[in-house]
Amino acid sequence: MTNDWRDPALHIKRIYLAKNCLDHPYGEEIISRSGLPVTTVDEKDLGTVLREEYPATLKEGKRSLLLCRNQGEFLKDCPGTREYRCCDYRVLNVGLGCPMDCVYCILQAYLNTPYLSFFLNTENLFEELNAKLEAYEGGVMRIGTGEFTDSMALDSITRLSSRLVRYFGRQSKGILELKTKSAAIENLQYLEHNGRTIVAWSLNSEEIIAHQEIRAAPLEQRLDAAARCVEWGYDCAFHFDPIISYPGWEEGYRKVITRLFEKVPAQRIVWISLGGFRYLPALKRIASERFSHTQIFAHEFIDGLDNKKRYFRNFRANLYKLIYQELMARCSPTTCIYFCMESDEIWREIMGFVPSEKGGIGAMLDRAVEMR
Ligand code: SF4
Repeated sequence: MTNDWRDPALHIKRIYLAKNCLDHPYGEEIISRSGLPVTTVDEKDLGTVLREEYPATLKEGKRSLLLCRNQGEFLKDCPGTREYRCCDYRVLNVGLGCPMDCVYCILQAYLNTPYLSFFLNTENLFEELNAKLEAYEGGVMRIGTGEFTDSMALDSITRLSSRLVRYFGRQSKGILELKTKSAAIENLQYLEHNGRTIVAWSLNSEEIIAHQEIRAAPLEQRLDAAARCVEWGYDCAFHFDPIISYPGWEEGYRKVITRLFEKVPAQRIVWISLGGFRYLPALKRIASERFSHTQIFAHEFIDGLDNKKRYFRNFRANLYKLIYQELMARCSPTTCIYFCMESDEIWREIMGFVPSEKGGIGAMLDRAVEMR
């Protein structure tokens, strides 16, 4: 067990401030809190700040943070695919990139900038949220910030969580999910969340965390952080994603589940997702070049309907079966266990039903929110 884990925000060594944000008070606040050197830049010149070529830029790019404006929409539908069952999730785009470095991270194939970005114009973000939540006619809109970044990885310098949690604490139509692999959660204490924020951790076996999730918090620290959030009145969620096969995976994942339920009260877990390892073909080359030690691609994969490589169906079913049974033996009846991006065949085989029989995954998750 490593005890030397530190807040991933400390990995940032320099800040670039976009010229059009020079007087933005949030930018001033972040700069003064971070104590880091700042360079003012025109965004179009940023491509020249690092001389290395992509993907080598990714490593050094994780040390640089660009504070800028989001010129587009903040809230978007989760980029699920039609071919597999997805969960009607909305993504709140607060920035791009992450100072942690997971071998399997899909962002390596999507983002080629030599810096991470954080959007300062939260005034526009909240305006947009107000309008979209007001107009929303469904039940509760589930919104997460952990799609193009990690929700808490930069929070010690941005303190965005305080703004978001307080905002959602005043909403009746929205639920915020903060999804992370960090354990730097101190800013969540003392906030008036009113049960409208769910704090979620991606979990993996200690073996995978140690070798494939660089700078992410060790398992015990993630679970300790979850237990603290429960003490502060938050409900939690967990994502077993990506589930990765390796020699000894059964014991590895069993241990995660045992420790999870030893540390976090079952009735405070709103949902748990399961997702087998899958990747865009371009990722294999990039990740193998950056992490020569990795064995996660040394396996047989098939081409999924979403153009991602994934384990063979029977192989996925084996992984899921064990994890699902271990979870079902311990979890609360109110916790929604669901697959992220899986076929009806897998749902039927492992869980004994398909989502449409229960109104769809979105409705299942909405009920889990209501039953708390
Ligand atoms: S924590 Fe998430 S966003 Fe960050 S590197 Fe890992 S997979 Fe990517």
